[in-house]
Amino acid sequence: MSVRVRFAPSPTGFLHVGGARTALFNYLFAKKNKGSFVLRIEDTDQDRNQEDSLAPLLESLKWLGLNWDEGPNIQENQTQGPYAPYRQKNRLNIYKEKALELVEKEKAYYCFMSPEEEAQQKVQAIQKGVPFRVSSPYRNLALKSAKEKIKKSKSFCIRFKVSEQNHHYKLQDLIRGPVQFPSDSLGDFILIRTDGFPVYNFSCSVDDSLMKISHVFRGEEHLSNTIKQQLIQRALGFHPPQVGHLSIILGKNKKKLSKRSGAESIQHYKAEGYLPSAIINFLALLGWNPKTEQEFFSKEELIKSFSLESLNTSSAVFDEDKLLWLNEEHIKTLTDQELFQILNRFLKNPKTQEELLIKLIPPLRSSFKTLKQAGKIISLFLDEDFKLEESARETLKWPKSKILIEKWLAFLKKQPNRPLSLDDFKLFQKQIQMEEQIKGKEFFMPLRCALMGYQEGLEIKLLIELLSPRQMKQRAEKTLALI
Ligand code: GLU
Repeated sequence: MSVRVRFAPSPTGFLHVGGARTALFNYLFAKKNKGSFVLRIEDTDQDRNQEDSLAPLLESLKWLGLNWDEGPNIQENQTQGPYAPYRQKNRLNIYKEKALELVEKEKAYYCFMSPEEEAQQKVQAIQKGVPFRVSSPYRNLALKSAKEKIKKSKSFCIRFKVSEQNHHYKLQDLIRGPVQFPSDSLGDFILIRTDGFPVYNFSCSVDDSLMKISHVFRGEEHLSNTIKQQLIQRALGFHPPQVGHLSIILGKNKKKLSKRSGAESIQHYKAEGYLPSAIINFLALLGWNPKTEQEFFSKEELIKSFSLESLNTSSAVFDEDKLLWLNEEHIKTLTDQELFQILNRFLKNPKTQEELLIKLIPPLRSSFKTLKQAGKIISLFLDEDFKLEESARETLKWPKSKILIEKWLAFLKKQPNRPLSLDDFKLFQKQIQMEEQIKGKEFFMPLRCALMGYQEGLEIKLLIELLSPRQMKQRAEKTLALI
């Protein structure tokens, strides 16, 4: 049997950490087993669907390098693959046809209950303290009579006939092993709503079967859906795919991951300057245990090491510090040239500054952990970006700061027009120590402010070599004017 897995997002917003992890695990499983990774868009929910979130979602997947073998290709406005279309809203006829098939087989039925009637049943169940299970008066209505009602334009939905009530549903989970469910809350659920659109469980089961999906990996919140989907698939005569439910992701506060606890979109991390390879590495460790000390993995290594046996059932904790550390590690593996290409793109660096960037990368590359931090450091070398931060202004108010910067400017003016060497700088350091008794913190901190605009950061030694004499003079002058 060939391995076919799918990622089936609903375009309801940006691609978030949880969704990206689901996509990744399916992708890794497909690649490890030389199978196919299918992308299917579940966009039949009229209320939740946001058409304009589809393009950014696909963009994020591509950026992460989770390229699909089959699925929509919106750039060419085409779909690709043998089971097209891959957008559910273009498959409505198929769901209708399959629902009618179930009705004909008496495994589903037309139901004419009004929403009020159903709500009333719910209230009664609550009052009695029993689990709600819909009880439709149309469950056993002869198909012929139901069709007559429809002719009289009575509005209807199609419900699945849950036949095996009062028993335990079992499923063999690829990650958790055997899972058992009490069936007492499983009533005749809806397949096709009154508006003619299929519910998620129905369209998903039909598509997983028709698209010959062999394995499904998704979050554990889908466990109860799996039961319904398997019932539908068996009723349609299909063999359900094998399913593995991934452990839940918690925030550092041990609560379900939410925007508050750090669940940002992949787009957010891209804008913050994280590398896709670091995000992939980080996501893989959320629920997958390599069973070694190794934490750094390239995508190729992940594909090689990935196995079902090392997937965890215990919850994973989303630790942003770890992501930052991994990003730093992934940056370290890039050559200067590769880092230049990536930064040049990330910073939308103008052509005129390419040379500067090339010059700055080798001495500065160990000073940043994200591309955004790199941008901040690099911008400090651009003339137009020089300004004094509040903390720098405070330091420059120290009693000896002003005379120090004045002497620094005078020293610079006396220098021949060539880059300053460290020896030149040491000369100045000695001179100012003798003449003004300025040394240590009183020397370095104000000077760094006059060179960079703020008091922490890069070592003075590095700044002296990287800033041109013209820049240093200009900055000293600007500083004096501002204090
Ligand atoms: N469209 C569903 C979701 O985004 C897919 C769930 C599944 O993988 O079946 O939650």
